[in-house]
Amino acid sequence: MQIEKNVSLKKYNSWQVGGEAEYFVLPENMEQMREAEAFAKTNNLQITVIGSGSNVLVPDHGIKGLVICTKKFRGLHCSQEENRLFIECMAGEPKFALMKAFLKENLPPAIFLSGLPGDVGGGLVMNAGISEGLKPREFVEICDWLEVLRDGEVHRYHNKDLDWSYRHCRGWEPGIIVRASFSWPLEDRQDNLKQKTKDFSKTRWQRQPLDLPSCGSTFVNPSKDKSAGYYIEKAGLKGFQIGDAAVSEKHANFIVNLGNAKAADIKQVIEHIQQSVREQFRVDLRTEVRFL
Ligand SMILES: Cc1cc2nc3c(=O)[nH]c(=O)nc-3n(C[C@H](O)[C@H](O)[C@H](O)COP(=O)(O)OP(=O)(O)OC[C@H]3O[C@@H](n4cnc5c(N)ncnc54)[C@H](O)[C@@H]3O)c2cc1C
Repeated sequence: MQIEKNVSLKKYNSWQVGGEAEYFVLPENMEQMREAEAFAKTNNLQITVIGSGSNVLVPDHGIKGLVICTKKFRGLHCSQEENRLFIECMAGEPKFALMKAFLKENLPPAIFLSGLPGDVGGGLVMNAGISEGLKPREFVEICDWLEVLRDGEVHRYHNKDLDWSYRHCRGWEPGIIVRASFSWPLEDRQDNLKQKTKDFSKTRWQRQPLDLPSCGSTFVNPSKDKSAGYYIEKAGLKGFQIGDAAVSEKHANFIVNLGNAKAADIKQVIEHIQQSVREQFRVDLRTEVRFL
């Protein structure tokens, strides 16, 4: 396993911005993951974990310490027991692979997972999901347990031991999520599921600016009846731009990189939106995106 120095993180995040990782590694299995963790401990380096980087803002000055990217940390195994489908997978498995495993058995988790970017690990940390009234629609509903590597040891946390909320899962930190298990009853098989997942992905393409680098929704919806995008649009901020970072004309909660945006530009757009919405509507918009 190669631990590299001064690696640009631009190609490891979906905004395609930010500086270098002081140290960077792509572990491919548990042994390498343990090795990477031990390297950080021995050299007194802080660890930052990223999956697909589809929900993070990497600063222009880069990240000190060791960045562990789980993109190659893959593996997925399906089994059936007591009329349930079980899927065990490593944290770097893309959500797309999880979606395909549910889809193969025509099970409804495939619908909310279709078109969700990123890896399983990031999906768990973010309790990723959709706001449409589907069942299931978030990771909390399909996860049985997850495993965390901490100081060389693996700890298992069952769903009920974790603190899940809208776009958050807590109670497992600190550490690196390495593996998780998901399941759904087989008796819940649905007809036309393949078509439903296709329709769902199509709607995303219609509503979201998926042709430009972004991090998806920048802000958490402040309430059930009004979305963050509603307030941003009402504040007249569609198209607002600093450098090459702009509020999307297609979906106001998306900040897109028009070419050469810097992380600082994106941060300034975020702050401007928060200030404008606070002044005009007395609403505080909290970021869904994580600042690394
Ligand atoms: C176009 C677009 C559309 C999107 N649509 C949606 C949507 O509909 N619903 C939704 O919920 N999200 C959406 N997102 C946001 C994002 O895809 C999700 O939050 C996703 O789950 C993040 O996964 P990731 O692998 O990219 O995580 P990253 O962005 O790499 O990481 C997210 C956080 O998790 C931590 N982390 C990641 N992996 C691990 C690990 N193994 N162990 C410990 N910590 C870890 C990181 O440190 C970071 O804090 C969208 C993003 C884009 C770009």
